[in-house]
Amino acid sequence: MKDKFELTNKVALITGGGSGIGLGIAAAYIALGAKVAITGRNITKLEAAKLALGDHCFIYVNDVTQKDTHEKLVETIEKEVGPIEILVNNAGIHNKKPSIEVTDAEFQMVMDTNINSVFALTRTVLKYMMPREKGSVISISSMAALFGITQVVAYSSAKTALLGMTRSLASEYSHTGVRFNAIAPGFIETKMFLDIMEKDPKRKEKILSRTPARRFGTTEDVAYAAVYLAADVSNFITGVCLPVDGGNSIGF
Ligand code: NDP
Repeated sequence: MKDKFELTNKVALITGGGSGIGLGIAAAYIALGAKVAITGRNITKLEAAKLALGDHCFIYVNDVTQKDTHEKLVETIEKEVGPIEILVNNAGIHNKKPSIEVTDAEFQMVMDTNINSVFALTRTVLKYMMPREKGSVISISSMAALFGITQVVAYSSAKTALLGMTRSLASEYSHTGVRFNAIAPGFIETKMFLDIMEKDPKRKEKILSRTPARRFGTTEDVAYAAVYLAADVSNFITGVCLPVDGGNSIGF
């Protein structure tokens, strides 16, 4: 039974794995025996992650929006780390401002990072995964895909599109042995989030008052869900979105 939860000898690719939620997932996967390739644009951040995570962490500088680099990235990881069995589409950006002030360029930028690039990279990885008849693709969505949040129109649009992509790919390709699921984290205590909360105590109170668990989530909370969806124990689960939110999406 225990081995169904293990990730020994599995290879994972986590985009944006150098910080926050992605780093938490990488740490959990490595603790369970996986080898993990993490990507990001900032080499300093990746090197710090490698120092913390050790030998089973492999770092690759890659901007996910540079779609013509995906093939080379995946090919290199397959050669240097091993056959990718888990893809975590985690890299994401935010743009918070009143919706009618969002420019086309800003909207496009968020969509390009948070959904267009996710599809492009997933398509590339699938070419390797599907013939091996085994794999788990996990995309990090958000509460912003489950209910309306003000001032994040592009972010909400992209994170909702991720759920459509997940269901569509799950319907089309789960028979190949590759599964597709999403995680919708609630309000998670990453550095970026805590900085925002510090400047806006009213918002902090509002979020906590409508979160049944009455706390913010941790990166570990999200990582445990990502372990479950990556491990063999969830072999019959595909096409779902798992909220990790202390009840935020169902609380009243
Ligand atoms: P972070 O900013 O810590 O993580 C985002 C990561 O994405 C960074 O490591 C960043 O690395 C990477 N990244 C951003 N743009 C690119 C790019 N173009 N190419 C490659 N990597 C990129 O934030 P979080 O950990 O909070 O966010 C992780 C995911 O979780 C995001 O998709 C976010 O939308 C989602 N999420 C977060 C919530 C929260 O409360 N924190 C709630 C719901 C969802 P670098 O700068 O080096 O490129």
